[in-house]
Amino acid sequence: MNNQGLIDIGANLTHSELYDQLDLVVDNIVSSDTGSVIITSSNLNDTVIALDIISKYPDIFYTTVGYHPHNAKDFKYEDMDKISQYYKNDRVIAIGECGLDYYREYSTTKQQTLCFENHLILAKENKAPVFLHERKAHKDFISMLKKYNDDIDKKVVHCFTGDKAELMAYLDMGCYIGITGWISDLRRGKHLHDLIKYIPQNKLMIETDSPYLTPKNLPFKHNGINQPSYLNFIAETIAECLNKDIDYVKQISIRNTKEFFSI
Ligand SMILES: [Zn+2]
Repeated sequence: MNNQGLIDIGANLTHSELYDQLDLVVDNIVSSDTGSVIITSSNLNDTVIALDIISKYPDIFYTTVGYHPHNAKDFKYEDMDKISQYYKNDRVIAIGECGLDYYREYSTTKQQTLCFENHLILAKENKAPVFLHERKAHKDFISMLKKYNDDIDKKVVHCFTGDKAELMAYLDMGCYIGITGWISDLRRGKHLHDLIKYIPQNKLMIETDSPYLTPKNLPFKHNGINQPSYLNFIAETIAECLNKDIDYVKQISIRNTKEFFSI
């Protein structure tokens, strides 16, 4: 791993927009400030593909294992064992992404809560970091997480886009916070310019959530498909909001990420 490189804690490399041009995406990573990338798994098939990508580029990639709330309807109890088995692989470094998403109810509330609770049990049993997704489900999400909070040391709420009260609730529970290019979107993400100041320096991590959420401050022409190589521009916006040097953001996010995922 490139010790100086930024670490993208969430990239959907198995998405066809990126997977279909994987060699180019990797070339772009190699020539960027991004050193390592954690491929987000949203179901077990993603983990299989991610492990294949990792075998081709072992110096760059890691992955997670679990079911995104959208896919909660596909979660079966026998997957518990499979997830624990995948987690034994040292390139599989977190349980997730898991959580609740009431914005797009692709799975019912009941399917989502059942799936989420089982992932929290898995994180507890495997003493694993957990990669969390929450959208328009804060109240239920907090009350479920509270039940397991003392048993799960490392929790990151990825792609945080919520309000101040939600941020404080996550920080009170010891969560880390993942910030995406949403912060560079002045139409939707302006509120984050203020909120970012409330995230303690030892809780901040950065991610592209590519191919989604392309940063708005890219200084060159692009095709609208976000890539892990654009992570630098998210660090740049955060540095501007904090009135700090970009190297400060790079240093703290790399340090936090290495500690969190033990990489
Ligand atoms: Zn997510």
